[in-house]
Amino acid sequence: MKNDCVFCAISEGEIPCFKVYEDDLVLAYLDINPFSEGHTLVIPKAHYTCLLDTPEDVLQGIVARVKKIAAHIKATLPCDGFNVLQNNGLAAGQTVPHVHFHIIPRTGDGEGEITFENHKGDMAHLAQLAERIRMA
Ligand code: AMP
Ligand code: ZN
Repeated sequence: MKNDCVFCAISEGEIPCFKVYEDDLVLAYLDINPFSEGHTLVIPKAHYTCLLDTPEDVLQGIVARVKKIAAHIKATLPCDGFNVLQNNGLAAGQTVPHVHFHIIPRTGDGEGEITFENHKGDMAHLAQLAERIRMA
């Protein structure tokens, strides 16, 4: 692994992922330990650690993709709403120091506690789900 970064290794194809979308700027794939069905990560292909060292133009591009991918997920899955989450630094719960945006699909009416908890993903299910969501 070039710089010990798991998400760089994914972006360079050294580690597989359940891909949902890819273009010149970003790669989007399912979180392997999802908070909810369809939990997707959107990363820039280039390595930046967090929001603060990511150039403005790259950020604008990522956010535009987050919108597009979230709209597609909402239209494809049972999904009534979604959270966009972005952690910066260990203190904020960032475990992978390569800037990324979480898209977390939600169902229901928002009654009760909204939680952000990883659940061990079933790899066969994630493979099927990624195929279902995958954007041209
Ligand atoms: P954060 O806590 O914001 O740094 O989020 C990192 C997320 O990456 C967690 O939700 C992990 O489950 C997820 N993750 C870690 N490794 C992988 C991987 N190889 N493929 C997909 N998701 C991953
Ligand atoms: Zn990286």
